Formats: sequence, C-alpha cells, structure tokens
Amino acid sequence: MSEHKKKAPQKEANRLSVLLRTVLGGDRFPVNIADLAREVSKNNEDPINKIQGCAIDGFEGMLRAHRKRPAWNILYNEDPRYKGRERFTLAHEFGHYMLHRPQLSKLDYKDGQLIRECDFECQPMQMNTWKSAEKVREEEADTFASFLLMPLDDYREQVGRQEMTRDLLGHITDRYGVSLMAAIRKWIEFTDTRAAMVVTTDGFALWGRASKAAYKSGVFIRSGMPIPEAAIAEKGPSGVASDQDKAICLPAGVWNFSRGSEPVRELAFFSHRLGICISLLLFDGDPYAANFEEEEPADTLDHFGNGNRLWRA
Ligand SMILES: [Zn+2]
Repeated sequence: MSEHKKKAPQKEANRLSVLLRTVLGGDRFPVNIADLAREVSKNNEDPINKIQGCAIDGFEGMLRAHRKRPAWNILYNEDPRYKGRERFTLAHEFGHYMLHRPQLSKLDYKDGQLIRECDFECQPMQMNTWKSAEKVREEEADTFASFLLMPLDDYREQVGRQEMTRDLLGHITDRYGVSLMAAIRKWIEFTDTRAAMVVTTDGFALWGRASKAAYKSGVFIRSGMPIPEAAIAEKGPSGVASDQDKAICLPAGVWNFSRGSEPVRELAFFSHRLGICISLLLFDGDPYAANFEEEEPADTLDHFGNGNRLWRA
C-alpha cells in the first residue's frame, strides 16, 4: 500500500478539477488525462513517463514502475472490447498514481534495476477474486476517475431541469468522453429526482441502482430479479420504439418494487457488443416519499461477483 498520507479520492479529483478550470476555463472537457498526468507529475522524483495503448490480453489498464529509473508508465488496453472506456481507464490508473503508489526514489533501484514490486494491474470483471484491500483501492481509483472526468457542478449544469433523454445523455457522453454506463451511473448518484438504472441480460437484472430519492420511496433493484415482460428492456433492440429520444411511458403493473407498482417512464439502451441492456427508469410521482427508512443505497452486483467493473462498460 501507499507510503503517502492517505488521500480522499473525491477530494483529490476535485482539487485537480479546480486546477483545470483555472488554467483552461470552460473549454476543459473532455479532460485530457495524459496531459494532466504529465503536468501534475513532472516535478515529482518519480514522474509519469510513458502513457500508451497496447493490446495485451487480460488487463484493462496498468500503472507500471519504470524498471531502470524512478518513473511510472501508464498502459491501457486498446482492444475493441474496451472501446469507449479508455479515458476512464487512464483516469483510473492516474488515480492509483495520485492516491496509492509508493513514491519511488533512487533507493528503489540497485545497479540500475528496480528492486521492489509495485505495479498496479487492473483487470475487468475480477472483483470476486480481490482481497478487500485491493477492492477498496480499485473502488477509490474508480471514484477518482469518475469525479475527475465528470465534475458534479458541471454535470448538474449540463442537465439543469431538463428531462433525461437519449439526446441529453449523448451530449453528456460526448462532453466527458465516457461510456454511457459511466454517465448514467454518475447521474443516478447525484440526481434529486426519483430514478433508477437496471443493467439487464437474458431477462434478468445483472446490476441496478436507484437514486437516493427513489430508494427512499421503496425502489430497490435486486441483482437476479426477473425483468418484466412488458418492460422496454425485454422487448429487445428491435422492439417497439426502443430508439425513441424520450423515455416511454409504461402503466402501473409493469415494474414492481417493494412498495408496489406505479407508472414509470423507461429509456433503454441496447449494447450488442456487451450483450446487455441499460434501462433508465424515471418515476414521476412521489407517492411514498418521506416515510421510507433512510439508508445508503448499496451496490447489489456482488451476487454476480463482477461488481464495479461495470462502471466503465
Ligand atoms: Zn486499478
């Protein structure tokens, strides 16, 4: 683990965001992680040296100690399977550099060779094999990446009071250079409205998360729960109006949650490549507000053992 004083991922990302805003002003998106990483690290004894894509199987990104002198390289997988996630991966590895790396010095090299092991190898879909220290570290790097690429104040400003639509999400993913999954998940985390996202595959929920307001009103997505037949997510990419810009109204009785069923608007995104659908559920009314026990919503993907890696999908 780090020899640094422990840094909070969100705070560290926000500090860099302020720096970017001061230097670049409004025109700072999408965040150029490579430039930022070089600039921020250049005066350190162990700066970031090379940042490059490669096609090595089995990892999505890597922060690798230079073998001959105090420095670090960031590598990211260029395989098309990871398309759309490169920027997030770079930001994640930069997060390990800022939050977790041991500071390398000449003392870590003997006869011109590195004498310690300190690489960060980040693999997708491996959460079930992580030890808990690793899990915390990986989640911290993801949190750092998320706040650095999509600062809350800017994201809030982009959305304003607008309805969440396919076009608006397209604007968000373009602006920040992130995947749809990352953009939607971020919105769910901060929106004051009642909304939820459900990632489905083969008729079941793989993972889901409700916004705070939705959770308080009894909306909770269980991994493994069957997706209702009348849901847009179940109709498939060729289904009725599956590419409409606005969410589609469904009557009460389609989606059921712990406090019963209510009408919902659903916006579904199908990914052939990943074999999943991301469904965004928007609830208009607020029938059960204020009397549901307040509790932090929990991630529910552990059931499937591939947790937060979906963040980047
Ligand atoms: Zn990692």
